[in-house]
Amino acid sequence: MTRLATAGEVFQLIRSGEGVTRADIGRTTGLSRPAVAARVAELLQRGLIVEDAEGPSTGGRPPARLCFAASGGVVPVASLGASRTQIALCDLAGEVLVRTDLEIDVEDGPDVVLPLLMDTWDKLLDGWDLDGRGAVVGIGLGVPATVEFAAGRTESARVMASWTGVVIPPIIAERFPVPVLVDNDVNVIAMGEHRAVYAAEFDDLLFVKVSTRIGAGVISGGTILRGALGAAGEIGHIPVRDGGGVLCRCGNLDCVDSVASGTAILRELRAKGRAVRSLADVTALVRAGDAETMAVVRQAGRRLGEVISGAVNLLNPSVVVLGGDVAEMFQPLVSGVREVVYRRSTQLATRSLRIERSRLGAGAGITGCALMVLDRVLSADAIDRTG
Ligand SMILES: [Zn+2]
Repeated sequence: MTRLATAGEVFQLIRSGEGVTRADIGRTTGLSRPAVAARVAELLQRGLIVEDAEGPSTGGRPPARLCFAASGGVVPVASLGASRTQIALCDLAGEVLVRTDLEIDVEDGPDVVLPLLMDTWDKLLDGWDLDGRGAVVGIGLGVPATVEFAAGRTESARVMASWTGVVIPPIIAERFPVPVLVDNDVNVIAMGEHRAVYAAEFDDLLFVKVSTRIGAGVISGGTILRGALGAAGEIGHIPVRDGGGVLCRCGNLDCVDSVASGTAILRELRAKGRAVRSLADVTALVRAGDAETMAVVRQAGRRLGEVISGAVNLLNPSVVVLGGDVAEMFQPLVSGVREVVYRRSTQLATRSLRIERSRLGAGAGITGCALMVLDRVLSADAIDRTG
């Protein structure tokens, strides 16, 4: 290193487990012993790290091990969905401390929903043995809308028309004066799934959520790809061939959203005279091996596969993860997707491509929200700026 490592950079070594003793840090950074001691003392004093004397003994007093203080703060998060909202407090490692599911109708709008979220976080903070709002280091929110990430502004809300153009962070920061980060729900789920399940193996992942609507989150080179205005991954309105001329709510014909989403699967089964009320009914029929239902889901998978094959050619992910309610029908869905992706994507892009079912399930949004915040507030820059 040509310049001296900062306290923030030393913190990153400890947080990632690469610098566990003062001597390790000295070796990795080239800092002198007094310089290491000064930075470590600052981090200890700020409560960002703790000292643990239980190091491997080499005779005499063992060198103190330095550990990241995951319990040194709390991140309130919420993953808002059209049908269910999950609210939680996470520690600084992104682990869920306490979680609650809330019946919220997001259509009630931000004036109703945001105070309700903040009241719930306050209640959870009261019930937890913490320094109340003083322990909060940042807040993360996933919403079912396109989000201009830098501003935290919701654009073209998919389900929540009353949220369009709303800048969320200042509203929350009035009660919780900390960094408030807002992103699209599928993006936070993709981040959560990648970090918790695949980060050690892969840097490139495509997460496709198939529920009442279809959306995708792209992890490229280890980070989320948001695009110029936050609309990257909005694959729902890419049209498919031979969709049958279904009019999409966007005004175009045969968008994948209108021919392969959960809504489309329900519509097709009803048109065949099947009495299905919800996706849960469809899941039950798939589990029972009902041939007609399997065929409809597989056809939806083929149409989804058309759009995914284009994305695979463009992005060359290591793994495509299918999540959302329809992932409960994984077998017929994935066989339709595979059939088309392996036929239509380039050989190189599919050589080692895996197509898998979401493993985190509903909890991925919560984890992703926490990681989004922690990456910001615990970055080396942030630590040095707030020091
Ligand atoms: Zn459309």
